[in-house]
Amino acid sequence: MQLKIIKMENIVVIGGGLMGTSAAWQLSQYGEKVVLLEQQNSNYKEGSSFGKSRIARSLGPKKDIFSFLHRTTVEETKKLLHFLNGLSPKAKHKMSDIYSTSPVTYIYNKSQEQELKQLRFKGQKDKFKKASGDKAFRKFGMTVDDSQVVVQEYRKYSGTLNPKALIKKMQLGIKKHGNTISFNRQVTRIVKKGHYYEIKVRNTKTGKSKIIQTRKVIVAAGPYTSSLLKKIAPYFKRLIIAKRLLLSFYKINKKTYQQLNKEQRKVLFKTHPVFDQQDEMYFAMLDKKDKQGVPIFKIGGHQLRGNIPNLDAVWRQKPLKKELKWSKKAFVNYLRMLEIPVRKKEIILTKRYYCIYSVSRTKIPYVTPVITKEKTIDKNMIVIGGMSGTGAKGCLAYGRLAADWLLNVNENSKIYQKTKKSLGVERLMNEVNKPFFKK
Ligand SMILES: Cc1cc2nc3c(=O)[nH]c(=O)nc-3n(C[C@H](O)[C@H](O)[C@H](O)COP(=O)(O)OP(=O)(O)OC[C@H]3O[C@@H](n4cnc5c(N)ncnc54)[C@H](O)[C@@H]3O)c2cc1C
Repeated sequence: MQLKIIKMENIVVIGGGLMGTSAAWQLSQYGEKVVLLEQQNSNYKEGSSFGKSRIARSLGPKKDIFSFLHRTTVEETKKLLHFLNGLSPKAKHKMSDIYSTSPVTYIYNKSQEQELKQLRFKGQKDKFKKASGDKAFRKFGMTVDDSQVVVQEYRKYSGTLNPKALIKKMQLGIKKHGNTISFNRQVTRIVKKGHYYEIKVRNTKTGKSKIIQTRKVIVAAGPYTSSLLKKIAPYFKRLIIAKRLLLSFYKINKKTYQQLNKEQRKVLFKTHPVFDQQDEMYFAMLDKKDKQGVPIFKIGGHQLRGNIPNLDAVWRQKPLKKELKWSKKAFVNYLRMLEIPVRKKEIILTKRYYCIYSVSRTKIPYVTPVITKEKTIDKNMIVIGGMSGTGAKGCLAYGRLAADWLLNVNENSKIYQKTKKSLGVERLMNEVNKPFFKK
């Protein structure tokens, strides 16, 4: 059956999570005409960017690309808010809508010499404190043994980032530039035809499909990226893998929480978010407060990733009992480290679900033009994918890099060039040609 061809678009962005929305916003800023297609409705629920909290942190080795991505995102967020506030005298978009500044706590084991050495405490530009054993108690109120090293990072806008609020503000920015965001639009096929792409789009409400033609396209479909590209860039199936991860939300029961003294509460807030670099890579952060002011913490473990037999079903799958048992125990253990001696029965589970990562083999994301079957580089299709567990903090920088690739915009700074190269097409070409990645 011949499908209706809508029209030739200038640029189409596929996927309305943090990455696609950010790319569409950056292109809008550059004055481009863009259409953003998202398969869900405007009530975003099934994607890696779902939720209200992610750790945003800067500390890293010298010339670290991830620190650069975080810092660039902070600067780009300021630009976004400046634009939105300029639209009306009544507009009051604030950085605090998106970032909660607080110390970021890291826990290492002394045996992780390599990681600790990489942080280059001497000459480190970000403000930090470091201690182990008894000294950690005096500095941070944390009881750790001599084999553990606690590091706290202090930097404005390091702490937590709210993806939901950021996506909403970027959407507003895109629309105010006169661009289009189409929800309930699922891309089911992408075909290259000469100098343009033909994209088949299904309206998930009516079930009807249409064809959009476009000269340029950005694919930012999160965990769906590899399957969406299976015909046009099949190698991504081996390079980007979707994994599920438990997220559980806990609070201390009201009575016990109210019995905590001022010092204990202070320590509780100052030591979240936390990212433990040992074993299961426990992370925890303040997600929100309940109606009575009791904090609810989001808990997970980066090393407890599971495979996904059915990507469409996983969003509604119930987490396993053993996973919840682990997260509760890990939360209680951490509270004990903070000298907040609560028992397991005083902890309440408020919510739990699986969130999905797309992880690259090297754990480093891609923002890259695709390589065609003929092994040529096609700069008219850019992929943002394999964002792993640190995508959110750099989202506006990833979006900008994608827009820069597409429009041939460049920045001369060394760190920009280093980042572009680490995520970009040179690396992709290497990986596609490596026997290890070929199998
Ligand atoms: C448990 C967990 C903890 C994390 N913690 C942190 C953290 O502390 N700090 C940090 O910086 N990052 C963290 N991250 C990573 C960060 O959240 C992700 O890297 C980021 O949200 C990825 O965004 P995305 O846009 O690539 O993917 P998504 O948010 O999944 O967006 C992809 C979008 O594409 C849409 N889509 C897919 N297929 C199609 C199609 N065919 N047609 C149209 N639309 C389509 C989807 O519906 C979805 O909305 C964490 C991630 C997880 C899962």
